[in-house]
Amino acid sequence: MYIVQIAAECAPVVKAGGLGDVVYGLSRELSLQGHTVEIILPKYDCMRYDHIWGLHEAYQDLLVPWYDGVISCTVHCGWVHGQLCFFVEPHSADNFFNRGTYYGCKDDNMRFAFFSKAALEFLLRTNKRPDILHCHDWQTGLVPVLLYEIYKWHGMTNQRVCYTIHNFKHQGIAGAEMLTATGLNNEAYYFEYDRLRDNFNPFVLNFMKGGIVYSNFVTTVSPHHAWEAHHGELGYGLGHTLHLHQHKFGGILNGIDYEFWNPESDRYLSAHYSKDDLTGKAANKKDLQARLWLEAGNKPLIAYIGRLDDQKGMHLVHHAMYYALQRNAQFVLLGSATEPGINQWFWHEKRFLNENPNVHLEIGFNEELSHLIYAGADLIVVPSNFEPCGLTQMIGFKYGTVPIVRGVGGLVNTVFDRDYDQTHLPEERNGYVFYQTDDSALESAMDRAIGLWEKYPDEFKKLIVQGMNYDYSWNHPGKDYLEIYELIRHK
Ligand code: ADP
Repeated sequence: MYIVQIAAECAPVVKAGGLGDVVYGLSRELSLQGHTVEIILPKYDCMRYDHIWGLHEAYQDLLVPWYDGVISCTVHCGWVHGQLCFFVEPHSADNFFNRGTYYGCKDDNMRFAFFSKAALEFLLRTNKRPDILHCHDWQTGLVPVLLYEIYKWHGMTNQRVCYTIHNFKHQGIAGAEMLTATGLNNEAYYFEYDRLRDNFNPFVLNFMKGGIVYSNFVTTVSPHHAWEAHHGELGYGLGHTLHLHQHKFGGILNGIDYEFWNPESDRYLSAHYSKDDLTGKAANKKDLQARLWLEAGNKPLIAYIGRLDDQKGMHLVHHAMYYALQRNAQFVLLGSATEPGINQWFWHEKRFLNENPNVHLEIGFNEELSHLIYAGADLIVVPSNFEPCGLTQMIGFKYGTVPIVRGVGGLVNTVFDRDYDQTHLPEERNGYVFYQTDDSALESAMDRAIGLWEKYPDEFKKLIVQGMNYDYSWNHPGKDYLEIYELIRHK
């Protein structure tokens, strides 16, 4: 099959969070299974060019219709760890992707509306006719709309779209000007409730809703989150739209790329280890303590890795840090914030705790350090308010780092409480789960985890190995996506 992924991120060249990991990991898995996969991305000025091999111009002067004129683009091409990627570079005064940031601009909606249009124009002009277009998140929600309303009439009749929602919270909205810019025009038509009109604000169009309505199949990134989004509040207003389209909606758990995330071969670790011999894990703990100026010695080391964002349960992350200190454990935090208030809060904590030898806050994005933390920590906390899938607990398993999580979204599908899980045998359980959002709920789970580490080291080691036994690779989800592609391809 010939599959083209259209997305705003692809790790490690463009990564702000899990979306990047998924686009790369799924593409690689599909390629390994013998399919042709290409990825279309914006050419951001701030991406990691050191991860692209053989970057060259693939198409000059691609003229993308925009308002009543065109924007000329150069499309570059290169390999990101073996995956063929195309990078769209528009030349216009809008300067869409030369902003020193992937997201967070006032005109993000127009930047990605343009990108969606440019990606289709590129496929059209180069005569690429993939079987499947796989789009991701709000940024590319307009791709199926543009395909079925415009590009289909230019000869792209056999393309089918799978649309994956990684985060319902960010949906992308715009006014009627987006219709004029992209050539969709026809305001009355697109402002109908069963098309793009936002479910709550009748004066705006919703990109993600467009993606759901027009795609041939819609997925989100875990079965439990599919349920939460459809039946609960976590669809952020799109629950009814999902309900209307439930026949083509489901949840597929993300995978982890074990080529990249593997303690037996990790390029960023000096000591390697496996579930059969965990000695290297202790060496990584020492390396981590030395690198972050933590006191040497054997205390339980608890980590948090992730965006510093309301979604991730900031008050509980903060409390986990102080509770760890109270319990004579060590705590390492690696995270970056886009929201100024949260950023200031954690910078304040960092300064306040600067002299404490049992805690380190690293504020910023650091891929290399994240690998050492996964390898060196004993426990990882994921106290999210909501978590569509969550990758950090799955990476934690692979690195023998036991997760303590809140039972929401994909965390429910992956972490099974050592003491209380009713659906798994004791030898299948792999972590600690709590449900409420108050401090004491977190404390009770941390207390059980720290207690096992301190008093029953052999039992704790058994728990580590039980987590490492799980296969959260792309193997299964890769097959699930292929089944969906097959299903829609013949429609
Ligand atoms: P989300 O997509 O909501 O950000 P996920 O758990 O799905 O959360 O994916 C997070 C990914 O980003 C993981 O690979 C994690 O290791 C990585 N990550 C998050 N924050 C940082 C950071 N500050 N430095 C390095 N890696 C990070």
